[in-house]
Amino acid sequence: MTQIELRDVSLHYFTPKEETKALQHINLSIQEGEFISIVGPSGCGKSTLLSLISGMIKPTEGDVRLFGEKVKEPSKRIGYMLQHDHLFEWRDILNNVLVGAEIRGMDRQEAKDRALHLLHRYGLGEFVHHSPKQLSGGMRQRVALIRTLVVKPEILLLDEPFSALDYQTRLNLSDEISSILREQGKTAILVTHDISEAISMADRVIVMSRRPSTIQSDYRMEYSNGRPSPFCTRETPEYHTYFNKIWRELEENVRT
Ligand code: ADP
Repeated sequence: MTQIELRDVSLHYFTPKEETKALQHINLSIQEGEFISIVGPSGCGKSTLLSLISGMIKPTEGDVRLFGEKVKEPSKRIGYMLQHDHLFEWRDILNNVLVGAEIRGMDRQEAKDRALHLLHRYGLGEFVHHSPKQLSGGMRQRVALIRTLVVKPEILLLDEPFSALDYQTRLNLSDEISSILREQGKTAILVTHDISEAISMADRVIVMSRRPSTIQSDYRMEYSNGRPSPFCTRETPEYHTYFNKIWRELEENVRT
């Protein structure tokens, strides 16, 4: 089923001094359960694309549709994972994970049961009453993801969620996050500047051009021996082929 659809979408920002044409003629269709990565030159409009999908901003032209309906306001069916975890230091892990549920007015006991289930399921059961500063950067990001999952979004938007972490943590966490999202059956869109991360986590990698940005390529990741975990993806011959193609495209974008 098509969950997200952009039809001939353009987005121009207007300030008193200038107009910035961020996106133009974007056509994109994303199916339920797909994991999409978006790469492109810095400032081309990747985050803008996520803001449009989330309903935070409206397109200058064209339509953004979620679940077949035109987006008019921010949707509760969408969750976020950002570069910074934004955990509250004065709350323990359980109470951090419950923040979204509190804001949405979910039943406290139901939210707590779900939070505890997810924390235990994803290796944080021992840390329920710890404070955020007692956790590593990777664990904090897992907490941030669980906070999002407690409110049961159907679509996850991930805007550079690993970029503040060291390389080793990024590798491990990208494996963990992608298996959590696949297990939970979520549709996910990841914005990243890291081509390896984009390829290894996704079913499709979308390459965007320079501003005014449009979709330059849309690669479907296919592996002869079935889909490996993100970490093992990097060992496959297909990974190297995709990497070289995408890297060359981004290079040409910078040069021309
Ligand atoms: P990316 O995520 O690819 O780095 P962004 O979507 O953040 O790019 O931004 C795309 C372009 O739009 C950039 O040139 C940026 O400066 C501009 N832009 C982003 N947000 C605004 C805004 N609120 N007002 C004006 N210009 C903006």
